Order: sequence, then structure tokens, then C-alpha cells
Amino acid sequence: MQGTSARPRAGERTLVHIDADVVRRERPAPERVEPVVEIENVTVRYGGKPAVRNVTFDIGRNLITALIGPSGCGKSTLLRCLNRMNDLIPGATVAGKIRYHGQDIYDPNVDPVELRKLIGMVFQKPNPFPKSIYDNVAYGPRVTGMKGNLDEIVERALRRAALWDEVKDRLKDNAYGLSGGQQQRLCIARCLAVEPEVILMDEPCSALDPISTARIEDLMVELKERYSIVIVTHNMQQAARVSDMTAFLTVESDDKGERAGELIEYGPTERIFTNPADPRTEAYVTGKMG
Ligand code: ADP
Repeated sequence: MQGTSARPRAGERTLVHIDADVVRRERPAPERVEPVVEIENVTVRYGGKPAVRNVTFDIGRNLITALIGPSGCGKSTLLRCLNRMNDLIPGATVAGKIRYHGQDIYDPNVDPVELRKLIGMVFQKPNPFPKSIYDNVAYGPRVTGMKGNLDEIVERALRRAALWDEVKDRLKDNAYGLSGGQQQRLCIARCLAVEPEVILMDEPCSALDPISTARIEDLMVELKERYSIVIVTHNMQQAARVSDMTAFLTVESDDKGERAGELIEYGPTERIFTNPADPRTEAYVTGKMG
């Protein structure tokens, strides 16, 4: 298991001292960051009021990127922009550029439904459909008319989500009969079934117990061999345990006094947690702020 020694025990506070040696050993700086998604000067507004302002950084291929920062700094807002989920929120507008393999994802020629197959999303609360385990995973391939043997597609997705062995004898059972942690892995399998390249995860463990959380964290580390993952987490230990790169945001005022989330620092997780460049990052990762 990855990062076992850094895992908090049940009941331990989230913001505790992070062992620098453990972070360095488990999460050395990636040798290079090959961008899969480029975020350039992005400002997101709700009803004209900025929530996130002038954010620029790249999401690296086959890496886990953590978005951290105090509540309300715009982590979920930024995450939702990456596959145009904000299109579904009335009054939300996105300025700046987000490029996926160099293509502007807000270009009128881009179909957001197609985009969301390639850049999938897993939510905070497991949200399986009220259907069988099998039908949950088969849903995306069916509606998108994916080619191939459906049984094989479902099995592959469940295996990759580390759930196959637990459900292979009850694929026709209702997904609601699974535990919370199993439901979340089912939602990950549902996302994987349509062959995405990037997986966005919004606080994927915050509704789970510590053992289920550990399984999802281990799974994320396995998945990054094939996928690029972006995770929003309020849990510093989790960011330190699983991510390769970390983006820290916090709410700042501009020269007109308008408050919005800004990117303070982005870099290898190991550096952000052990040698941050900005005192605000240091205050946050050491639990003095937020
Ligand atoms: P975080 O994920 O860091 O907690 P959010 O992205 O949820 O931050 O929120 C950033 C800011 O945008 C907050 O001020 C929040 O109130 C505002 N916001 C988020 N979602 C909406 C929405 N659907 N409509 C209006 N304002 C929103």
C-alpha cells in the first residue's frame, strides 16, 4: 500500500503534522509534467461575481494533481470547468482558456457530452443509479453505443476499479445494496467504462470511513498508470499521500477589493508540503489557516 505510514488513524485530526520524510519518499517530484489539460488565465463568475480569478497551471499526464485550499476558494468551481460541468449551472461563465490536447474545450465545435466521456467525474457522495451493479457500469457504454462485448467492458471497468472480486457473483443485484466505499468504486468503474483519459474527483472520500478511504487512495495510485487524475480534497494528509502535484488556492482581494479564489502556488506535492515558497501556503499546509 502506498503511504501507509502517513495514513491517519481513525479519529485523528485531519490537519496534523505531515512527516516531511514520508512525503518526500512517497511522492518525489515527477521528472516532468507533460500537460494533458492546460488552464490559462481562467476566471469563473457566478452571476457576474468572480469565484476564481486568473488561474494558470497545467494538469500533468499520468499524474495525480490535488487542488487544495480553504472552503470557498473555488476548488470545485475550477474542477467543474475542466469538463464543462459549469455549463449546467445557470449564471456561471468561464473566461480564459482551457485546452485539452491543445484544443480549446469551450470552442463552439466541442460537444460537452463527448468531452465528459474523455474527462469523467466522480462526485463527493457516491451516486449510483437505482439499477443493478452491471447496468450501472454498462450505462455509459450503452448510451454512447460503444463497440465491443458489453460483458467484457463491464468486467474490465470493475477490475480496474478494484471491485470485480467483491461483486462478480452478484452483478444483477441493486447497486444500493453495496457499502458506501463499494458504491464509490462502482461510480469510478462507471466513469472508467467509457474509456476516459482524465478523471476529476471532487472530495471522493469525504463521505467514506477510513478503510474505504484507504482503498480509494490506493486505487487512485494504481489508476494513474493509465489515467490523469485531478482531486479536490480538504484533507491535507490525503493530498500529501496521493498527489504528485499540488495547486493551492485561497481567497484574495483584487485592487478593487473584490474577493475571489486565486492560485497561490503550484508545484510538486513534495515541495509544496515541505518547502512552500509562499507563507500563505505554509500557513495552510501546517494547519495554521483554513
Ligand atoms: P470550494 O470547492 O473551494 O469550497 P467552490 O468552488 O464551491 O469552493 O465555491 C467558490 C465560490 O463560488 C464560493 O464563494 C461559492 O459560494 C461560490 N459558488 C459555488 N457554486 C456556486 C453556484 N452554483 N452559484 C453561485 N455561487 C457559487
